[in-house]
Amino acid sequence: MPGFAEPITTLIRQLCKLPGVGEKTASRLAFFLLRLPREEVEELARSLLAVKEKIQSCPVCFNLTDVVPCEICRDDRRSDGVLCVVEEPADLFAIERTRQFRGRFHVLQGAIRPLDGVGPEDLKIRELLERLQDGKVQEVLIATNPTTEGDATALYLSRLVKPLGVRVTRIAYGVPMGGDLEYADQVTLGKAIEGRREM
Ligand SMILES: [Zn+2]
Repeated sequence: MPGFAEPITTLIRQLCKLPGVGEKTASRLAFFLLRLPREEVEELARSLLAVKEKIQSCPVCFNLTDVVPCEICRDDRRSDGVLCVVEEPADLFAIERTRQFRGRFHVLQGAIRPLDGVGPEDLKIRELLERLQDGKVQEVLIATNPTTEGDATALYLSRLVKPLGVRVTRIAYGVPMGGDLEYADQVTLGKAIEGRREM
């Protein structure tokens, strides 16, 4: 980046590493940061370091947390009967935002991806099966992503969990609310028909 002072170039290069940020956006962010008051930049820098220092995986559900076990695992208003299995902490947050689920979670930390060399032993599957040992969980709701890998992982899990006498369910896929069927892609619409339920 000719013409920029070295610290600015370095900052732009660092910002470029963020997902979805190209050089243009990175430059805009860098100049925005330059104009901020020093205290605000310090606050930002501190919060970046704080997540690295304070955040860890919950040893029970593998959600990201700053307390052990995490808030969800220690919340006694939640039901122990239903365990929702997701790929990543971001998926857990998405489900929490709906306020529709009051059970517990288990974060696999990925999906089975044979092509990338990710097998079942690389995920928190053994830990999931251990959580089912005491018989408290009556239903495992599998909420892995509706992708080839997510579906394959769901199938793999259901084969392990069903023999334990635990009910296995999979989230239904649907058409977006307020959307028009005409514009839904055929895979989404096909899945919505497949996942239909009684009215
Ligand atoms: Zn937890």
